[in-house]
Amino acid sequence: MEELLELYQTMGISPAVYAYGEKAISKLKDRFDAIDKIAEHNQAKVLRAMQKNKVSAACFVGTTGYGYDDFGRDNLERVYADVFHTEAALVRPQITCGTHALTIALSANLLPGDELLSPVGLPYDTLQEVIGIRPSPCSLAEYGVTYNQVDLLPEGTFDYEGIRKAINPKTKMVTIQRSKGYATRPTFSVTQIGELIAFCKNIKPDLIVMVDNCYGEFVEAIEPSDVGADMTVGSLIKNPGGGLAPIGGYIAGTKACVDRCAYRLSAPGLGQEVGANLGLMTSLYQGFFLAPTVTAGAEKGAIFAANLYEPLGFRCVPNATESRHDIIQAVELGSEEGMIAFCKGIQAAAPVDSFATPWPSDMPGYKDRVIMAAGAFVQGSSIELSADGPIRPPYAVYFQGGLTWYHAKLGILMSLQKMMDAGLITL
Ligand SMILES: *Cc1c(COP(=O)(O)O)cnc(C)c1O
Repeated sequence: MEELLELYQTMGISPAVYAYGEKAISKLKDRFDAIDKIAEHNQAKVLRAMQKNKVSAACFVGTTGYGYDDFGRDNLERVYADVFHTEAALVRPQITCGTHALTIALSANLLPGDELLSPVGLPYDTLQEVIGIRPSPCSLAEYGVTYNQVDLLPEGTFDYEGIRKAINPKTKMVTIQRSKGYATRPTFSVTQIGELIAFCKNIKPDLIVMVDNCYGEFVEAIEPSDVGADMTVGSLIKNPGGGLAPIGGYIAGTKACVDRCAYRLSAPGLGQEVGANLGLMTSLYQGFFLAPTVTAGAEKGAIFAANLYEPLGFRCVPNATESRHDIIQAVELGSEEGMIAFCKGIQAAAPVDSFATPWPSDMPGYKDRVIMAAGAFVQGSSIELSADGPIRPPYAVYFQGGLTWYHAKLGILMSLQKMMDAGLITL
């Protein structure tokens, strides 16, 4: 049998990079064991929901047109609601991406004169145009919804005094982003999010709390919906799609909020009754079934990356040892050249488009040039091994995904190899 190192060498990994990686992995056993425990818990949670709702071959039948009485679609929404412990869920291929799901949740539940509060600083780049922080046609601002923001304290914690002052009679909804997105702040644990929700609802009990759960699903044994979120929102080409969902988004929450989201997505009066599944149900069910293990593999990759890059002097968020609440790893590479080398490595390790060379360019929804590396089966899927980041200081690459831990590992080793080849590091 060909030795693994020999095999890797034929793929471009040098013995020095391989040895450096093995040394890092030898210290990660306990952390990987803990991740496996959470994956096992979440796998049981998903299985129980599928069994309770009697998932059968009838759920995988494709529908077209209006999609009235679409049993598979309706049952998938019951499965999601049971896993998230919510009254209702909207899970649809007609939700085109995470930004779209969040836009539906916001615009369905905010009316002219209402105010939206972000108590965790600036939201994710694409949401800034949705809210109108950066002007855009059809933003919430254009419809007379105002926005207020309380930044995190310098150490990355909640500014409770500032939040208390910011909540006013107009404040209708609070939006909490779990993951760091393109910022180098900490990602919040579900417990921390629960404390923040309790604090806000204590001041104003009728507040609606929405959590942007992108990249957070299945990283912990509980979700924001378990700690008081009225809407928990995410993308199916991230964690909950398990790599198989080719498109889609979800909103799990109270019946009152989800009903309004369904009216916003389709039309007032129609709501969840319409929306054909277009034959995608097998992928959406099977992807959700695989999501706990896929997420675990991606999380191992993120921890591995931090443990490779931090000792070389690159700041990592989260750092090599701290606990994880999403699958994103930010590595501050300090230069555009570093970002390009890192992304080249991720691209070269991909199963699809490994021969392409990533390069910085303008992207809709982002104000800086962005570099993206992805060689994915589903285009743009970031639960598959991918790296991206806006070209701006501190030149951080946001690395995430990997449908299997072994692929994530190879991708990260390859990124290190390209950094070494470019003369940016020495081992
Ligand atoms: C990815 C992401 C989004 C938006 O998702 P898209 O599917 O790219 O539109 C929103 N918020 C966070 C925190 C994200 O990571």
